[in-house]
Amino acid sequence: MKKTILIIDDSKTQLETLKVILKRINYNVITAQNAQEGFCQIFEIAPDLIISDIVMPDLNGYQFCKLVKSMAYTKEIPIILLTVLDQKIDKFWSNKSGANRFVLKTLPSDELIKICNEIIREHPISETYKQQILSKKININDVPNILNKILDDTLIRSTIINEFRLLSENMNNEHEFLANIFKIISSIIDYDISVIWFKESNDEYKNFYFDTTLNLSSSFKESLINDILNKSNCSNNLSNLKITYNNSLFINKNIEYNDYENFESRNIFPIYFEDNLLGCFALFSNSYQNYETNNIFDVILSELKLLFRIKKLYSQTKHLAITDFLTQIYNRRQFDITIEHEFARATRYLTPLSLCLVDIDHFKNINDTYGHKVGDEVLCSIANLIKKMFRKSDYVFRYGGEEFMIILPETNVNNAYISIERLRKEISKLEFTSNDDKFSITASFGLADNCVDALNFEQLIKNTDIALYKAKNSGRNKIIIYEGK
Ligand code: GH3
Ligand code: MG
Ligand code: MG
Repeated sequence: MKKTILIIDDSKTQLETLKVILKRINYNVITAQNAQEGFCQIFEIAPDLIISDIVMPDLNGYQFCKLVKSMAYTKEIPIILLTVLDQKIDKFWSNKSGANRFVLKTLPSDELIKICNEIIREHPISETYKQQILSKKININDVPNILNKILDDTLIRSTIINEFRLLSENMNNEHEFLANIFKIISSIIDYDISVIWFKESNDEYKNFYFDTTLNLSSSFKESLINDILNKSNCSNNLSNLKITYNNSLFINKNIEYNDYENFESRNIFPIYFEDNLLGCFALFSNSYQNYETNNIFDVILSELKLLFRIKKLYSQTKHLAITDFLTQIYNRRQFDITIEHEFARATRYLTPLSLCLVDIDHFKNINDTYGHKVGDEVLCSIANLIKKMFRKSDYVFRYGGEEFMIILPETNVNNAYISIERLRKEISKLEFTSNDDKFSITASFGLADNCVDALNFEQLIKNTDIALYKAKNSGRNKIIIYEGK
């Protein structure tokens, strides 16, 4: 069957020349002298290909292209933009407008014919599709309205995208980051509860952010979180839950919501990147809501997906920057930052602060006797033991090769001594094996606090060092408390 090509150009000569060329190779050719007229022609003839000029009065070729490509019942028709414009930006725009090809008017006619044949072959328009096009009736006066709607939609989308993209610039403060996300989403769509959950890499810590003004009972929250975890294919370990509210103002504290199952709309969207679950975004509403029919909801979801990815990369980078590669505890760099911060805090609130420097005794011998790899294993065991034995509010760092630092906020040396002594005993009880050899180790400890000779954190560090030196020189495997000059 003969294929039909629609040509749109404001130059009559151009139209005639092209018409002659294409008719010669057995195409039906229909012409239009402007894009509006061309657009209406689509519904009269259902063409197999459209060749359109770009520079035309009123509606230009890019806009025409966007118009055709944005409608389900015309978007399959291939379009060639034919023009004298030869700048890179022209090509960029014709691609962005959805054109299948960008062809210069200076191209020899046999080349153009080749391209037409190729595109028609690659993008065949089925008879059923054509019948659908022919069944639609478009009035030429409707075209500006349709186009305005497309432009509005594009503008809204790019504005929303821009708002989301700005958020990725500041991820330092997670709470603020989440508050800003909720601020954007709540300004676009309606919900009663929105929940964002970032999956932690250890799978244990469940950090949920809620944005709601409803007073939810604990059983309601539990069912909701269970539902989120189930839909994300995660095991429900509710023991380590941490819920952070974006909004602490409840509309009516007296009404407590108990019945999660009867909450009208429950929409849960797990967010994945390359098959890895990054977290979840959920929206709940007391009235019926079908978010997926909202024409900009896809923008929200895809922007959230991007933010989840950036957030994940950010946490990974942050983790790498502050963690010692071998032992996976905080590194020296993080110690320098933390001690300064904690010292300043203790000074400001007049609270005690203890610092302990741990150094393994004769560690060099272990490397020399059993090899470096065994030495590494010993370091990891000690790091794990210290981490396990101290409170969440204490900090443990790898300070140097076989040296560790423990910061104990709100603790004076006498209290710190009790837990450090427990650690000293536990270290000496550890048993290591290398081949058939069994061996154990000991460590020495220098302990100081901010009450004696420590006007600044540098001095406090120096004092632990002095105390450690004394411990080493007086037999090792002991704790020495710095007692002043
Ligand atoms: P002392 O009781 O006086 O502290 O003696 P020591 O042998 O523990 O102390 P010294 O400072 O002489 O030696 C520390 C050793 O720790 C030397 C170094 O090769 C080893 N070391 C440092 N970092 C690592 C590491 O990452 N892995 C291993 N296996 N050994 C390390
Ligand atoms: Mg040492
Ligand atoms: Mg040592």
